Amino acid sequence: MRQLIIIMLTSTLLLGWGKTGHRVIGTIAEENLTPEAREQITQLMGHTDLARVANWADEIKSDPKWDHSHDWHYCTILEGHDYEGPEAGGRAIQKVTEFTALLKKGTLGKKDQLDVFRFIVHIVGDLHQPLHVGSGTDRGGNDVKVKWFWDETNLHRVWDSQMIDHMQYSYTEYAQQIQLGMSAADKLALLNPDVLSFAKVSRSVHEQIYVIGDGELSWEYIYKNRELMEDRLLKGGFHLAAILNDIYK
Ligand SMILES: [Zn+2]
Repeated sequence: MRQLIIIMLTSTLLLGWGKTGHRVIGTIAEENLTPEAREQITQLMGHTDLARVANWADEIKSDPKWDHSHDWHYCTILEGHDYEGPEAGGRAIQKVTEFTALLKKGTLGKKDQLDVFRFIVHIVGDLHQPLHVGSGTDRGGNDVKVKWFWDETNLHRVWDSQMIDHMQYSYTEYAQQIQLGMSAADKLALLNPDVLSFAKVSRSVHEQIYVIGDGELSWEYIYKNRELMEDRLLKGGFHLAAILNDIYK
C-alpha cells in the first residue's frame, strides 16, 4: 500500500510526456539514425537504446544538484506573439540549441557529453508535447482542471500520460504502430532538425486541444485528439533523429 502511494505521488509530480511517450520518441529516433550517428552514440553510451535514457532528465529532478534544470523542459509562446526567447518562461529551445552546438564542438569530457546528450533526447521529446510549449497563462494546462474518465486531473497530465496510457500499448508496440505503412521517402521527409519550427507546431495545436467542453474528458476527447497525439510522438522521434544525425555526421 505504502509503495502504491509513493508511486502515485511520484507520477503526479512528473512533468513532460510520461515515461511511455518519451520512450516511444526515443525508439522511433533510434530506428532512424544514420550509421555514423549510431556508431558515435554507441561509443558514448555503449549502446543506442534511446528509450533507456529518454526519462533520465525527469528522474534527476529529485536531486537538488539539478534544480537549475527544471525550466529546461518547456518554453512559452505568448498568445498573439512569436517566440521571444526564454524571458517568456522556460528554456527548452535555448537548451537544445546550446547543447547541440556543444556536442558538435566536441570539447566536452565524456561525463558532460553524456549528460548533455540525455538532455537533448528528453527535451526534444518534451517540445512535442503541445502543453510544454505554453501560452504563459495556465502553467501549460496544469491549472486547467478536468476529469479523465471521471478521475480528477488536469489537461497537462492528460497529454503527458493519461491519453497515451489509455491505449495500452508498450512503448515498442506504439513506436511500431505509429510508423506503420510509412515508406522510406515519407520518413526522409520528416527528418527536420529545426527546433523552433517544431515548437511552433506544438503551440499552434492548442486551438484543438483546449476544446474541452464541460471538462469531462473521455472517449470523445480521445476520438478527436488521438491522431494529433500520435503525430506529435511520430514527429518527435523523427526530429530527434534529425538533430542527432546532424550532430554525429
Ligand atoms: Zn521533461
